[in-house]
Amino acid sequence: AKERGEGGYQRYRPGMEARGAERNRLTAALLAALDQDELVLRYQPVVTLPEGRLTGVEALVRWQHPERGLLGPGEFIPGAEETGLIVPLGRWVLREACRQATAWIDDLGDLAPGTMSVNASARQLQEPGFAAEVAAALRDSGLAAGRLTIEITESTAVGGGATQDNLRGLRALGVRLSLDDFGTGASTLSLLANCPVDQIKLDRSFAPGPGPDAIAGAVLQLARALGVEAVAEGVETPAQAAKLGDLGYVRAQGFHFARPMTPEDVGAGIRARQVT
Ligand code: C2E
Ligand code: CA
Ligand code: CA
Ligand code: CA
Repeated sequence: AKERGEGGYQRYRPGMEARGAERNRLTAALLAALDQDELVLRYQPVVTLPEGRLTGVEALVRWQHPERGLLGPGEFIPGAEETGLIVPLGRWVLREACRQATAWIDDLGDLAPGTMSVNASARQLQEPGFAAEVAAALRDSGLAAGRLTIEITESTAVGGGATQDNLRGLRALGVRLSLDDFGTGASTLSLLANCPVDQIKLDRSFAPGPGPDAIAGAVLQLARALGVEAVAEGVETPAQAAKLGDLGYVRAQGFHFARPMTPEDVGAGIRARQVT
């Protein structure tokens, strides 16, 4: 029997029976979802330490499936990467995130989240037109380039195709680059030397636990030495937040501060704090 993921959707697994048929089904369904506006974005706050003040948000995609409910990216991003559908999907995410960022600025002015972070897959960066698409999304939304951060992973930074041209193009636009899941890759350090980024996100597996905090501390020192911003991800407890603050982290993200939220809830949260 095939395993079923959250929401009863059949999880796509390499090597499963009828792999081709499953993939075709996913591709068709996702294409329809894109066309029928079934994709939605949630936004998770990035906050300052120790104050917990909002500095930005990360856009995280969901599939509002008519029968299966709200599906997380783990249910469809791997298949979308494999089929190439990540390219139109990612384009939609980028444009929608830029539109939302501008809507918050129009609504909330200085209280709006300062930065919008958008995840981009290696496959997107390999497309020759990616940097131009980002430029068009900025132009059409009116968002300033410096308020957009593109989160890439190690597989992107070493990627071929048009990747290096795109990375240069993004930097030339003034868009910020963040290296996501920092510390989980095999060649992270040589990569930092060759691919200049503005931010690194300490992977949540290195958030302080009962054991030593040596890695979280060392990554912060590295970031400082390189003049790069460090964000601690996956912060779940007050103890972790306190330890990271003691280590010197000034940016953090995680369930302890806020879950990924609807845009309405982000706006309402900002307004509620304003009046207190
Ligand atoms: P990510 O970029 O590392 O995003 C952070 C993930 O960690 C999110 O999961 C978020 O909900 C979760 N998270 C946040 N705080 C905590 C915490 O305190 N504890 C734990 N255990 N988890 C926390 P989500 O939304 O399920 O996204 C999973 C991954 O899917 C993302 O990991 C990212 O790699 C990918 N993804 C999401 N949206 C997009 C997108 O628009 N495009 C692409 N290419 N990938 C996306
Ligand atoms: Ca549509
Ligand atoms: Ca990310
Ligand atoms: Ca991450």
